[in-house]
Amino acid sequence: MSSQNLWLRAQRTYRRRAASLFFRRPLLINSERPLISFTFDDFPKSALRVGGAILNRFGLAGTYYASLGLLGGEASTGRMFDAGDLAALSEQGHELGCHTFSHLDSWDTGTEKFEKSIIENRDALNRLIPGAEFKTFSYPINLPRPLTKAKIADYFLCCRAGGQTLNAGKADLNQLSAYFLEKSRHNIQAIKDLIDHNREVHGWLIFATHDISETPTPFGCTPECFEQVVQYSVGSGARILPVVKALEVLAPQACRQASSQPRSIGIVADLARQPATPKPLVSILIPAFNAQEWISDTLRSAVAQTWERKEIIVVDDGSTDDTLAIARRFEPDGVQVVSQKNQGAATARNHAYSLSHGDYIQWLDADDLLAPGKIASQIAAAELCGNNRVLLSSPFGRFQYRWYRAEFFPSGLWNDLSPVDWLLRKMGDNLYMQTATWLISRELSEEAGPWDSRMLSDDDGEYFCRVLLRSDGVRFVPGNGVYYRGPGYENLAYIGKSRKKCEALWLSMQLHIAYLQSLRSGEETRIACLAYLQRNLIHFYPDMPEIVQQMRQTARSLGRELGQPNLSPKYYLVKAVFGWQAAKNVAILMRKIRWSSMKLFDKALFRIESRQTSRTAPKLEEPTAANHPHSRPT
Ligand SMILES: [Zn+2]
Repeated sequence: MSSQNLWLRAQRTYRRRAASLFFRRPLLINSERPLISFTFDDFPKSALRVGGAILNRFGLAGTYYASLGLLGGEASTGRMFDAGDLAALSEQGHELGCHTFSHLDSWDTGTEKFEKSIIENRDALNRLIPGAEFKTFSYPINLPRPLTKAKIADYFLCCRAGGQTLNAGKADLNQLSAYFLEKSRHNIQAIKDLIDHNREVHGWLIFATHDISETPTPFGCTPECFEQVVQYSVGSGARILPVVKALEVLAPQACRQASSQPRSIGIVADLARQPATPKPLVSILIPAFNAQEWISDTLRSAVAQTWERKEIIVVDDGSTDDTLAIARRFEPDGVQVVSQKNQGAATARNHAYSLSHGDYIQWLDADDLLAPGKIASQIAAAELCGNNRVLLSSPFGRFQYRWYRAEFFPSGLWNDLSPVDWLLRKMGDNLYMQTATWLISRELSEEAGPWDSRMLSDDDGEYFCRVLLRSDGVRFVPGNGVYYRGPGYENLAYIGKSRKKCEALWLSMQLHIAYLQSLRSGEETRIACLAYLQRNLIHFYPDMPEIVQQMRQTARSLGRELGQPNLSPKYYLVKAVFGWQAAKNVAILMRKIRWSSMKLFDKALFRIESRQTSRTAPKLEEPTAANHPHSRPT
């Protein structure tokens, strides 16, 4: 080794020791569950657009350490964020952190200059988003000088450095360790080992990186690699939270103290300005019946809502599996669990509602998932329009097992619409909105009345139709939405042969028609109702002749005869040879086969993609100068 190398090495060792030994603010990490955070430095646009989207797909959020001096420019880690990205970031439920205005080297810069750059970053943020402040910090390029570390500690709840390791036992809030993904992007196993180790020691593992791109810079990684890490983290059972949220779990006391001391910068306000009136309480109401396979994911997504004033109520409708026991495990997270003997979804929903206190109601089925910022975005939209008779909706995507592959297909209902236009589109164009997409004010819920327990099918269709009728219209809030599981064969519109379910569907249809007619008479209504009748005829034909008869009469009163039921041309031959009933049965059977094979296929891929290959504790190496994450230009 040359003397120059030796000198560099000695210097780095000194820095590491100097920085980590002094001015510590100890944090004892002892959490029930391991924690993982995803952070991005500088930050490049792709970190939010690609990385943030991947996190959101898993119902998660990250922390973005911004250097506002880089805003809109080009850096060694790619094209940098702009003002629009800052707004999008908070809308998507992510957190913003501070990284100095001019991206100054933490070691090479004098303490005074470094501090000035932090204040400059704060002021720049305030000009862009008045009232916004940074709560946490990440050190650019190198570990800090001891005096810088001491000085900066006053400004933030915590400061993150590098170190290629996790935080466990006694950590240092003034210098939390992080693991830069790009250091191991060609060795995903090393990352998985660290996640496993974090699970075993109940630590707090903070990942860091820069750009996420198909052609990453040396300081970033590919979407594929990033997604694998996120997925493995999720599979490890860790709570995955942005930095401030994780800190609230680990050191609630410290977070509370900080926010009661309005000194210096960076620890008081949230990105969203504090309203003068108390924030509204949101009730997340979850009816559950035999949902043991799904309910923990659903509850995790409810608990992870970035909207903090919430209550979560589960009503177990006499499940015969482990649903109740699994739900009870979430009681320490503030989830209220009650059970009743089996009485059906509508009754369970009304039971949950009777226990709720929220200013807004979020209905959530026990197998669906909410994106973390779903409720927060809708409340923000509600506050903007200042009218609690407006009904809030959101996007939704369907999945079976792999929620991160959910497909979001916009429809004509993904718009701001008046009640009548909404209903015309739903009935005329055969569209629907998923139950969990809505956020409903208490006022509207009270006026709409309880769920109708006669509705054994399409209960949500009928209920939301009633809510809609009382509303001043629908505000569609893009961005954060709902991950809708299924529909599997069992909850398809093909409701099978159950007479009771058929009768309930017909009742719901009659109510839909009456609701629409009560809002508007005329040609548009007539056409929408006829399309609605014609399309649904197949559910009742030919086995429910009395309902078919009533449908024909209704159509006649609207001025037209119903045609033959809609059947895919594939089944014409079966129909010609064996008749209607056989053709319909074959269509239902084919659909059943198609759905269950797709479901099996998705389940298999889900298992493969989330398989945890290694359970052995990894060997954690003391970071050497050569692999030190900050010994490089960003
Ligand atoms: Zn940086």
